[in-house]
Amino acid sequence: MAEKLNNYENTNRLFDKAADVIELDADIRKILKTPFREVKVELPVRMDDGHIEVFLGYRVQHNGARGPMKGGLRFHPEVDFDEVRSLASLMTWKTALVNVPFGGAKGGITCDPWQMSQRELEVLTRRFTSRMGLAWGLHRDIPAPDVNTNAQVMAWIMDQYSQRYGYTPGIVTGKPLGLGGSPGREAATGKGVSIATREAARDFDIDLKGARVAIQGFGNVGSYTGKFLHEMGAQIVAVSDASGGLFAGDGLPVTELFDHTYEHRTIEGFGQGEALSNEELITLDCDILIPAALGGVITQENANDVRAKMVVEAANSPITTIGDAILNDRGVIVVPDIFANAGGVTVSYFEWVQNIQAMTWEEDDVNQQLERIMVKAYRDVTDVMKQQSVPMRTAAFTIAIQRVADTEKMRGGF
Ligand code: NAD
Repeated sequence: MAEKLNNYENTNRLFDKAADVIELDADIRKILKTPFREVKVELPVRMDDGHIEVFLGYRVQHNGARGPMKGGLRFHPEVDFDEVRSLASLMTWKTALVNVPFGGAKGGITCDPWQMSQRELEVLTRRFTSRMGLAWGLHRDIPAPDVNTNAQVMAWIMDQYSQRYGYTPGIVTGKPLGLGGSPGREAATGKGVSIATREAARDFDIDLKGARVAIQGFGNVGSYTGKFLHEMGAQIVAVSDASGGLFAGDGLPVTELFDHTYEHRTIEGFGQGEALSNEELITLDCDILIPAALGGVITQENANDVRAKMVVEAANSPITTIGDAILNDRGVIVVPDIFANAGGVTVSYFEWVQNIQAMTWEEDDVNQQLERIMVKAYRDVTDVMKQQSVPMRTAAFTIAIQRVADTEKMRGGF
């Protein structure tokens, strides 16, 4: 069977599988599979060498039945409508699953930020904000960080948006603390992934103490995931990023590696561990594999070679539909993205709540609420898994789809 589906078709396959389980009617299916609004903008930027480059920026607002649409912004050469559409729909299911009052959106700019200066990035971000601002809003659509965007990018967005619409810190989440960011937001996705891993490991008889963990991608999500799992007693035996990978059979010194990466934005130059390729990391002999970089890295080509007992999807869509079917058939536990990485949007919700109330929470309160929401979502998912005898991903999708479908029906208007 060839794997020819595009990203959005892949996501809709997962949607249909779960929609069949709850016997969702055809009309609601059509609504939930059609994005609410899609915007594409032209972004001319004068580059440092004097010429003008024209970039393209995208925002897909997938569904807003349950609240303002929410989702990150990705700066990457492979960003296109198909990828953004797929990621936007995952946000709809993610926010519904953890039951925060948001819908789903995603955006991005096709660019290579590693080849751009800070000034070029700032102009690009501000252009994007000026041209997308009409479609955003505190109660309409709220961006956040994703691949290659960070607190600084969110600060530029907040400033640019506020120049036109008045002081609006809540227009974006993942901001620096001094600009209305939330304590705990930077670490939140990784913290959520570590909670998801802990809960699933306990249920599937993997002792986290001493468990061998391999993490692909050591950016925001991967590095915090490694840090928290290390604190829980796991051994991080391999990590990788765009520059390549590192392996140490008795565990990498995660704290030092975290500090090195925080400073240099890459694991390159760390000077400890053996070299390992990104492909080798996926098939490494380990207990838990955590893809935390880009989508589509476990496919029909390598799913049979995955040796981990459990795969925790810290990245969005790291496993293709066929890759997923192969892992399921082989009995590999897959903890799905819409649950595993939902800690980020959960604390983004807390940040938005703090902004609209003009209040700041303590970090302990943020982390306690995050723990409560992740554990509740895990229990909801595993209850459905047992009742319906379906994989964890299908269980997670059924809960989310049912919630959004019910709200769509209540709101009506068609
Ligand atoms: P990031 O930009 O901070 O880090 C991305 C990491 O992936 C970097 O280490 C980079 O070097 C690595 N990478 C890039 N290309 C690679 C390649 N070809 N092979 C191996 N590694 C590669 O991004 P992030 O925010 O950590 O996001 C990572 C994933 O987590 C994405 O799939 C994103 O959608 C998802 N996610 C992020 C958040 C969030 O709050 N930031 C929330 C939910 C999900």
